[in-house]
Amino acid sequence: NSITLEEVRDNVWEIPRTGDMNTPARVLASESLLEEISGDRTLQQLKNTTELPGIAKYAVCMPDGHQGYGFPVGGVAGIDAETGCLSPGAVGYDINCGVRMMRTNLTYEDLKGSEPELVETLFESVPCGLGGGGVLEKDRETVEEILADGVEWALNAGYAVEEDLRRCEDEGRRTDADPDAVSQEAKDRGKSQIGSLGSGNHFLEVQRVTDVFDSEIGDTYGLKPEQIVVLIHTGSRGLGHQVCTDYLDAIEQSHSELLESLPDTELAAAPAGSELAASYYAAMCAAINFAWVNRQVVMHRTREVFEEVFGRSWENMEMELLYDVAHNSAKLESHDIDGEKRELYVHRKGSTRAFPAGREEVPETYRSVGQPVLIPGSMGAGSYVLCGGEAAMTETFGSTAHGAGRVMSRTQAKQEFWGGDVQQELQDQQHVYVKADSGATVAEEAPDVYKDVDEVVAVSEALGIGDPIARTFPVCNIKG
Ligand code: 5GP
Ligand code: MN
Ligand code: MN
Repeated sequence: NSITLEEVRDNVWEIPRTGDMNTPARVLASESLLEEISGDRTLQQLKNTTELPGIAKYAVCMPDGHQGYGFPVGGVAGIDAETGCLSPGAVGYDINCGVRMMRTNLTYEDLKGSEPELVETLFESVPCGLGGGGVLEKDRETVEEILADGVEWALNAGYAVEEDLRRCEDEGRRTDADPDAVSQEAKDRGKSQIGSLGSGNHFLEVQRVTDVFDSEIGDTYGLKPEQIVVLIHTGSRGLGHQVCTDYLDAIEQSHSELLESLPDTELAAAPAGSELAASYYAAMCAAINFAWVNRQVVMHRTREVFEEVFGRSWENMEMELLYDVAHNSAKLESHDIDGEKRELYVHRKGSTRAFPAGREEVPETYRSVGQPVLIPGSMGAGSYVLCGGEAAMTETFGSTAHGAGRVMSRTQAKQEFWGGDVQQELQDQQHVYVKADSGATVAEEAPDVYKDVDEVVAVSEALGIGDPIARTFPVCNIKG
């Protein structure tokens, strides 16, 4: 297609403002990542986003970016909270999809030999796949409590400890949540999905720390080489998906005038200050709370599995939450834009908040160094823990990447790979034990469907938006 990019400096490319664009757009990528990003509709979608009213400064695409519904996965848009809008497509269907990492005091040596039992027990204990129910099944009233209270509900119900709350963004509760803004249908979908992974891109992975690049921040995060950690990736399941569907429908109907002025109906947005913007925000925050409880319950279950397999209590194995990050959300934040302090709805879809040292939103334990950022790679490549970088505040509305990012569609992956072979190779050649709902899931998630996570992280580091602290490698993986 005809989108021209200008190189601003190393790793920074700009689509200049032309036509109906309100701002320019920026892609943060190395040359080879840019080539992959240019292979689908990502650049066009990024450009379209700049036509949203109230967008500040520029739209950003992260180095792991790829096309999504209306707005790229790996996109960031800071939109004025008074004169702008909220766009569900720029948050994503899986509201508060995200990852959390739990530490342990086990080493890889302690675990070796137990992999088959561990992966089997995890697979039996943590529901995954599209059907399959959840760890908990609750009635609608309980779902409403979860939507209102987030991880505080889990604390009161015995699925969390105080420390878990303190190591979660917003202490696991968006106070702007309103359960009444969530449809009955959405609530009903949530009843049987509390504590479940969902479809194939979601996972629970036992990992070992292979490198600690910064030992001082590594200490603050409690990370050491050879240590076993657990990474959990899931979101708000059918409940969040239904919230997105419901509000896209409502917004398309009520705000058709704004819709007609946009280049893509998938960008449907509710003007700031409108009733629908307020109720979408309240419903989205409720779905965010649901996703936090989902990850919390999966983590709780994982603690029980470790107790069963290793015969020690989870407290004794020091299975503490390191941090929980959201990578699909919109959030009201103040940012300095050209010397002016502005209230923005920061839409991050497939991108992670990466606040540096000093920001009051960062939990006290990490405030002196910056927030942890979790970037999964793939089940064959490893993952990263980063620390929010100083430049994120001036360059990316306090954000960095969220993963390696897909390069190959699921359909193509199923033609290229055979799940059984991928699984066997991972086990024989890399000592990674994988269990999935189906062979097709493993094929769709083969390591080669994702971009090079090392290169994504190198771009983040070069730009100073997120600095690598540690690298991990998979040991056991259960796929949604
Ligand atoms: P998304 O939220 O966009 O579905 O996925 C986030 C990222 O997780 C992907 O871009 C990919 O890099 C990473 N990922 C997907 N599957 C796995 C896995 O099984 N293990 C690890 N460590 N990372 C994965
Ligand atoms: Mn995700
Ligand atoms: Mn998701």
